[in-house]
Amino acid sequence: MKIQREKLWEAVVQCNGKYDGSFYYAVKTTGIFCHPSCKSKTPKQENVEFFFHIEEAFLKGYRPCKRCRPDLYPSSYEPHQEVIKEVKNILENEYDKPWTLQKLSKRIGISSYHLHRLFKKKTGISPKQYLNQIRIEQAKLLLLQGEKNNTEICFLVGFNDTSHFYNVFRKVTGFSPFAFKHRHS
Ligand SMILES: [Zn+2]
Repeated sequence: MKIQREKLWEAVVQCNGKYDGSFYYAVKTTGIFCHPSCKSKTPKQENVEFFFHIEEAFLKGYRPCKRCRPDLYPSSYEPHQEVIKEVKNILENEYDKPWTLQKLSKRIGISSYHLHRLFKKKTGISPKQYLNQIRIEQAKLLLLQGEKNNTEICFLVGFNDTSHFYNVFRKVTGFSPFAFKHRHS
């Protein structure tokens, strides 16, 4: 934590805009919080508090700086959002691979605990649930195309066990693959 604090402080001293939106610094003596890039006078280090989320700064009673206006920063900019996008991309393109949370987190480069929490927080579902949704969407398409049987479809979309496939299919669509196909044909 100490090293990280020093890194954050360095960014503040250098007015490093690269970190805008990823953390904020607040000054205890003025009650104001800023972007790292703010051009206002560099405060004394011992008076500074760091926040990774703007809400935390507000909760602690700090007001946004009138000069750098951290409160107006486009909320679309979120480093976490990049991670979510990357996870979604991977799963959408490689849904048929035998993913586990460990494999996914290794690919993304963050811990599986963190990945799971972050994804769930931002999307409301776990990476596994997201992957299952994509697989079932694909399975529905294949079912409707009618060229493959249920077992073939099960393996094609990435499940390695038909009863698991049936369970997930029913959970997501409310129907068995068989009933689904009949309703739509
Ligand atoms: Zn400022």
